[in-house]
Amino acid sequence: MTTALAARVLLVEDEPDIARLIRVNLVHDGHLVEQVADGMDALARAEVGGFDLVVLDVMLPRLDGFAFCERLRAVDPDTPILFLSALGSAADRVRGLQAGGDDYLAKPFDLAELRARVAALLRRRERAASPIYGRGVLRLDDVRIDLKSGEVARDGAVHRLTGKEFEILRYLAERRGQVVKRGELLDRVWGPAAEPTERTVDNFILRLRRVLERDPARPKWLHTHRGLGYRLAVTAEPRSDA
Ligand code: CA
Repeated sequence: MTTALAARVLLVEDEPDIARLIRVNLVHDGHLVEQVADGMDALARAEVGGFDLVVLDVMLPRLDGFAFCERLRAVDPDTPILFLSALGSAADRVRGLQAGGDDYLAKPFDLAELRARVAALLRRRERAASPIYGRGVLRLDDVRIDLKSGEVARDGAVHRLTGKEFEILRYLAERRGQVVKRGELLDRVWGPAAEPTERTVDNFILRLRRVLERDPARPKWLHTHRGLGYRLAVTAEPRSDA
């Protein structure tokens, strides 16, 4: 199981070969990776925020990973931190977790295990952050959308959304009532290596309208804000059951 949305990962690692290896694998999994080799520079970058995960070496120039972690936790208690260090004793792992880390992987590490741990941390974050995660049902008048399965029921018929349709709708539902830019949808749903153009997003919106709207030409729910993006015109909380 992978996360549905591309994550922004801050990779703090001063060993170029290891950094490249990690970056290639995380990008392959659809994530955006920013790498910083120096502990102080990394802290300045992390304090600005905007990351979904920090992958953190311990032995770093200017500021080691444990100190980085303690200082970041003073201003950011939530962003998951995965330690990745040649210091692999139980005492080191305890120190990393006590400094505020969420997980600790010793070098040399197995790439499949690194990717699985990254995915697990991101899933946990998504569950914690998303107001609709695992919350059953969104109702748009007579349309019932199951936010776990992607099934849309209307007039006694069930339509199953495709992966991308579902991810777009879920993202808009998380930000219901707000205008979401097309570029942001591209970034979050297609990922950093996005081939599709903003035109592709438009086409998916049209497809979603055909499923959700009584009159797709005059949408009640899925609005276009010309030059800005899209908005799902729902303010109510999804319900836990039908
Ligand atoms: Ca190092």
